[in-house]
Amino acid sequence: MANDGHQRADVDSDRLWRRHMEMAELGATQRGGVNRAALTPADIEVHSRLATWARDRGFTVEIDAYGNQFMRRPGSTDAPAIASGSHSDTQPTGGRFDGISGVLSAVEALEVIDDAGIVTSHPLEAVIWNNEEGTRFSPTNLGSAVYVGTAPADIMLAATDRDGVTMQSAVQTLREAIPWAGSRELGASMAAFVESHIEQGPELEAEGLDIGVVTAIQGTRKFEIEVIGDEAHAGTTPERMRRDAFVDAVRMVTALRELFHDPDDIMRFTVGRFEVSPGALAVVPGRVFFTVDIRHPDDATLARLGDRIEPVCGQTGSRCDVRVTETRRADSAPFEGAVPDAIETAARERGYSYKHMPSGAGHDARYVSEICPSGMVFVPCEQGLSHNERENATPEDIARGAQVVADTLLILDERQP
Ligand SMILES: [Zn+2]
Repeated sequence: MANDGHQRADVDSDRLWRRHMEMAELGATQRGGVNRAALTPADIEVHSRLATWARDRGFTVEIDAYGNQFMRRPGSTDAPAIASGSHSDTQPTGGRFDGISGVLSAVEALEVIDDAGIVTSHPLEAVIWNNEEGTRFSPTNLGSAVYVGTAPADIMLAATDRDGVTMQSAVQTLREAIPWAGSRELGASMAAFVESHIEQGPELEAEGLDIGVVTAIQGTRKFEIEVIGDEAHAGTTPERMRRDAFVDAVRMVTALRELFHDPDDIMRFTVGRFEVSPGALAVVPGRVFFTVDIRHPDDATLARLGDRIEPVCGQTGSRCDVRVTETRRADSAPFEGAVPDAIETAARERGYSYKHMPSGAGHDARYVSEICPSGMVFVPCEQGLSHNERENATPEDIARGAQVVADTLLILDERQP
């Protein structure tokens, strides 16, 4: 029976939804969302419950040095695993689906394939990538980036949270919660990776589509901008003598907003932090710190406009000094070939409506794509809301996403060497 090319297993929509609601209780907020930072007790409880589920199924569980967790159903050969998963951490005012839905879809896929007794030649894995949202540790990085070697493990393990707890000791706490888990080498090879995720945008719902086949993750550049003036007395210092960092910084942000204005509405420009110092009522601000996050699917556009930030700030800040630091730069990452092809086949076989689309947000699959063929499945979410406690999706949409994951794993097992 194995590998005749047409074995499929149907997901259990009720079980999948029940697990979403169960996990949403871990770190639940009063307003119906989830606050579950990486490797806090609530997040470790997610890891622990899923590890126990895997063990009860006779699957193996491994944890790597950075706290990524791998739950593996063996294959008939010792080929590298075909994997699926996402993250379990959330933003402080996050929702019930971002991240965890991709983990639970992978878990459901392994479960129904196991229930159906399908023998795959590759092992199949459900993965929880650690610290995707990056809200607890500084400097922050994604577990997937550390796994593939894009981020240096030693520096990222030494990163601390607000209480001085290192990532290394947080990973140790995870290990102590699941003492029977095996160890996984960072960077151990995979045959392919598929991540399902709520779209976090409004397109699928607006167009009445079931599934998004993700074509690429758009590129991003991130900047920190420091405007330095002089603190002065608010009552005695005449305007002509002021070096007001707030006034100059506002001019800069206005000029940057014009620079990044895009009639086609594809460019994304965000000032997410804006801090005025010393922040006292009667003191002319001597310093402003603000961040700029820009994203665009076209690398040339991102390069050209991103390079204009420093000169525009320099020209606009009439009296203050300005320092522009680029803190992160990533070109857009395409998903091509085996995995998006398999996702499309899966959606078509099931009769789901779908379209190809880029991802506006960053995801773990971007980094995993550096070591193996990768791709993403998008599931519609209500009004495109995400990073919001009101984030919502329907049980039917979630089940269709998990079904595509389950079928994609089997199609890849048939097609991949
Ligand atoms: Zn996410």
